[in-house]
Amino acid sequence: MKNYQINDEGYYGEYGGAYIPDSLKPCVEELKSKYLEILNSDSFKQEFAQLLRDYVGRPSPLYPAKNLSEKYGCRIYLKREDLNHTGAHKINNAIGQVLLAKKMGKKRIIAETGAGQHGVATATVCALMNLECIIYMGKTDIERQHVNVEKMKMLGAKVQSVTNGSMTLSDAVDAAIDDWSKNSADTFYIIGSTVGPHPYPDLVARLQSIISEEIKQQLPSHEGRDYPDYLIACIGGGSNAAGTVYHYLDDERVNIVLAEAGGKGVETGLSAATIKLGKEGVLHGFKTLVIQNEDGSVKEPYSISAGLDYPGIGPMHANLAKQKRATVFAINDGEAIEAAFELTRIEGIIPALESSHALAALKKLKFKPEDVVVLTLSGRGDKDIHTYLEYK
Ligand SMILES: *Cc1c(COP(=O)(O)O)cnc(C)c1O
Repeated sequence: MKNYQINDEGYYGEYGGAYIPDSLKPCVEELKSKYLEILNSDSFKQEFAQLLRDYVGRPSPLYPAKNLSEKYGCRIYLKREDLNHTGAHKINNAIGQVLLAKKMGKKRIIAETGAGQHGVATATVCALMNLECIIYMGKTDIERQHVNVEKMKMLGAKVQSVTNGSMTLSDAVDAAIDDWSKNSADTFYIIGSTVGPHPYPDLVARLQSIISEEIKQQLPSHEGRDYPDYLIACIGGGSNAAGTVYHYLDDERVNIVLAEAGGKGVETGLSAATIKLGKEGVLHGFKTLVIQNEDGSVKEPYSISAGLDYPGIGPMHANLAKQKRATVFAINDGEAIEAAFELTRIEGIIPALESSHALAALKKLKFKPEDVVVLTLSGRGDKDIHTYLEYK
């Protein structure tokens, strides 16, 4: 049987690993040597479970979407991460990494953010735990994401403007890494998706695996079995998808469907469809598929959805695609918008633009009436109302 989990060297197949400068090696080594022992300790498990329940509001419902099911001729369930505190799945990871930081004796939290969602989740948990919090963010992104910047400040975080390069996410990553390498003794760097040098992809996947753990517990009361025929999720860096598939990776009865952002179309040059368009390369400390220019430099990705606008993809997902364990669709902006309006009208749920990419994948599949489909609704659409209004 194939194994799609990470190996001892920190690789999923040929993707992953830790490609980092010497200045970063002590930080990454310390994390690598401690994370599994802490995650598996009774005190971590107990505190994490308690906060997920009482603060985040877990378990998130597994909602049988009757109207959507009728429309697509199968049995569709929505895993409602949109109902979490702060409105998406990112809080699961932020709580886990802040708890880990505390247990490692770190008192200062840093993170980088592009659209601001990971920054808000991190600032939220730092407020809760009374920890110093610095969020690196490109100057361009600060201007584009005013509401999230104000939320982070209200939560007590310091938002550090980055003015290098294109002044967006990649530059913010560089700034955060620089800070970490200089302040490793007291600082923990929280990465928001299943990306970065080993062990981050595995750490984030484990923290998000609560999603599939709950699906396994919730599905039997509806269907009399604990596995679906299809799991569907959108992929930016890959964390909500990793959480959704984690406990089903090696269960070949379950079809895995991933929706990446096609932008204006994979042929147009304005796309974030990393699996369709990417070539092997090293990005932010790990080997994966990267959207590149002719000369091998990283190409700026484009998507209508800020959360899917990443030039790489988590190593787990690069491998799932390569091994043909997952079916990957590139969903264009217009298809995602259409799916968002459809869900809103027939189920009364306004989804995040990212999640709308997963919803649009329903149109690309042929279902049998008895097929059981679980689709992760990674977040709610309040933050995207301005975009939706442009299309009404
Ligand atoms: C950030 C975000 C995503 C994309 O990140 P992944 O790590 O791929 O899950 C998807 N949906 C929502 C609502 C987000 O905020």
